[in-house]
Amino acid sequence: MREPLVAGNWKMYKSVAEARHLVSELVPGMQSIEGVGKVLCPPFTALLAVRALLEGTDIAIGAQNIYWEASGAYTGEISPAMVAELCQYVIIGHSERRAYFGETNTSVNRKVHAALSHGLIPILCVGETLEENDGNRTAEVVSNQLQEGLARLDLEDGNAIIIAYEPVWAIGTGKAATAEGANSVVADVIRPTLAEAFGETFSALVRVLYGGSVKSDNAKEFFAQPDIDGALVGGASLTVDEFTAIVHAAGS
Ligand code: PEP
Repeated sequence: MREPLVAGNWKMYKSVAEARHLVSELVPGMQSIEGVGKVLCPPFTALLAVRALLEGTDIAIGAQNIYWEASGAYTGEISPAMVAELCQYVIIGHSERRAYFGETNTSVNRKVHAALSHGLIPILCVGETLEENDGNRTAEVVSNQLQEGLARLDLEDGNAIIIAYEPVWAIGTGKAATAEGANSVVADVIRPTLAEAFGETFSALVRVLYGGSVKSDNAKEFFAQPDIDGALVGGASLTVDEFTAIVHAAGS
């Protein structure tokens, strides 16, 4: 049994004061929901404040990126060790980072290695662009992102990593994939690619989230799919009622 997980990616939103306010409003409603892992991923500047407010709750905290070196003269970067002081999770290879900050499967792979060696659980994002989807290249692109993003790893523990299938055309557009379509990418591409690289047991245990315009009114359809184990939520994670309802749809 894979316990579902819902992670909120706040992107570059919320000052420290706004983050405190949002968390203090989220916690009471989210706390009572069982049977689902919960993760909030605020911007770096709010991690410390959010972590303090989440202490003693069952809600975990994640960062949205890391650099792969442990320390050094890398002005402006944040190391995995720094993130590991504050977080349990880190989003890696989000499509916005691939599109706007030049991240490639090679840099993503370095970051995944760095996260794992610092005890962080990577939430590795994969997904095809609209053009790739239109060209029937989804399987090729997603399986390549996984093979290259997870290269030279020896993964055995299905809980060591989380995969987020996020079709780029569905992120922030309000045009979610169909639940069946997303499930078939997970079942026919993602799990088989993971099985080939790390074995059937690992592939059956690893949690695969869907991300891309998940809202309270479509979440249940995604969570009813056999191979989808929760969601990575962007826009809707910034609204208390929406995010709480999505967590509720995944839990019990
Ligand atoms: C995301 O940022 O990972 C995401 C899925 O965004 P949205 O839910 O807004 O589409």
